[in-house]
Amino acid sequence: MEVGRSCIELNLKDYSILLDCGVKVNRTVEVPNLPEQREVKYLFLSHAHLDHSGFVPRANEKLGFESIYATELTFETSHILQKDLIKVAEKRNTPLPYTYDSIDQSVGKEVFLEYNKSVEIEGCVATLFDAGHIPGSSMILFENLDDLSLMYTGDIKLIETQLQRPAAINKLPKIDVLITESTYGDRTHPNRKTLEQEFIDKVITILDKGGNVIVPAFAVGRAQEMMILLRDVPYPVYLDGMARDITRLYLQYPSYIKDYNLLKKAASAANWIRDERDRKKAIREASVIITPAGMLNGGPALSYIKKLRNDKKSAVFLTGYQVEHTNGRLLLEEGYVIDEKNSKINVKMQVGFFDFSAHAGKNSLKRMVQKLKPEKIIVVHGEEEKSMSLANDLIDSGYKVYVPKVGDSINLSKND
Ligand SMILES: [Zn+2]
Ligand SMILES: [Zn+2]
Repeated sequence: MEVGRSCIELNLKDYSILLDCGVKVNRTVEVPNLPEQREVKYLFLSHAHLDHSGFVPRANEKLGFESIYATELTFETSHILQKDLIKVAEKRNTPLPYTYDSIDQSVGKEVFLEYNKSVEIEGCVATLFDAGHIPGSSMILFENLDDLSLMYTGDIKLIETQLQRPAAINKLPKIDVLITESTYGDRTHPNRKTLEQEFIDKVITILDKGGNVIVPAFAVGRAQEMMILLRDVPYPVYLDGMARDITRLYLQYPSYIKDYNLLKKAASAANWIRDERDRKKAIREASVIITPAGMLNGGPALSYIKKLRNDKKSAVFLTGYQVEHTNGRLLLEEGYVIDEKNSKINVKMQVGFFDFSAHAGKNSLKRMVQKLKPEKIIVVHGEEEKSMSLANDLIDSGYKVYVPKVGDSINLSKND
C-alpha cells in the first residue's frame, strides 16, 4: 500500500462503487489504475485532498459516473485544488492530468450530502459522518451493501483541534467491515495542547528578538488552524498564498467549523498579503507569516525563506509531516532547500518541527476499532511498515485483518 492515489472499488452484485480517486503528486503526477470491465456507477469522495480527489475529473471522463457524492465543502475545496494541479503541471511543462473542461463535466455529476443524513442508492443506504481531518471531510458508512455494513474512514482525526471537531465515531453503529487509513499506524502523536503551547512560546521568543517566523502550512486546514492558534500573539500575523482562498471558502461554511466566530475573528485580525509590496513589509517588521506550501515545494513560503536565508534570528517552523525528498525534509535534515531553478539554497535561519498532524495516531485508531468491533478490517493508506504495525496489533487483539497491496481484491461476503 502507499500514501497517495487512493482509489477503492466496492464490487457489488450488479454494479460498482468507487471510494475516492486520487493522484500522487511528487515531481510528476502518478495516477491510479481505474477498473475496466464492470459498471462503476457511483463515486463517493471522502475529502478534497488531491491524494483522494485529484483524479476525479479524468475518472469521470473514462467511467461516466451516474453521480458523485460528497459534502458541498469537499467539492468546493477539491475544485480549487484540481485547478491548482493543472496550473502546476502547466508551469512545470509536464502533461496535464485533465482540462478545466473535465472539471466542469464532473461538477455536473455532483450530489451534495450533509453529515448524518442518509441517502438510498439502489437499496444501499449511505451516510457521511464528520471525519475531523479537514473541514468537509467524511467517513462513509454503507448499510445494506448487498448483505453487509461497511465503513470507510477516508483520512481521519479523532481529537478536536483549534479548527475542527473530532471524528464523529460515537454516532456510528457496529459494522461488519472497516476500511481504515493507517498513515500513522505505527506511532502516537504528542499531546495537542502541550504542543500548541510549546509552539506559541517558541514563536514569541523569535518575535521578541525582532525576527520573522515563517510558518509553512498546508493551505487546506492547517493554515486556518495556525491562524486561530496565533490570534493572540502581540505581533502582526500575515496570511499568504492559497491559504487565503481556502480561508475565504471556509468563512462561507460555518457548520463545518468548530468555532466559526473564532475563525472569523482570527481571519479579520490577520493581515492578508495582497502583493509584493505587502511581502516586503511583512519581513521588515517582527512578524509571523503563515503560508503554503506546507512542505516548501514552491508557494510563497519558499520565496520568503530565500529572502531570509541568512537571518539567524528568524525561524522556519514546519507544522506537518514532511515527505521524503521534499524541501521541508531537506531543510530539517540537511539545512538547505532547492529552489525553482534547481539551485541549492543554504538556510541559516532557525528550523523547528511541530507534529500538528491531521491524522489519527496508532492508539486512536485502535480505540476506534474497539468501538466499532468490525468482523473484518482492511488497513489502507499507509506506508507498508506503518500499515503492518497497526495490522499486527489488531491481529493480536483477535481481529481478522487484511493489508492489501495496490491492485489486490478481497472477498467480503459473510461466509468467507
Ligand atoms: Zn487527507
Ligand atoms: Zn490521504
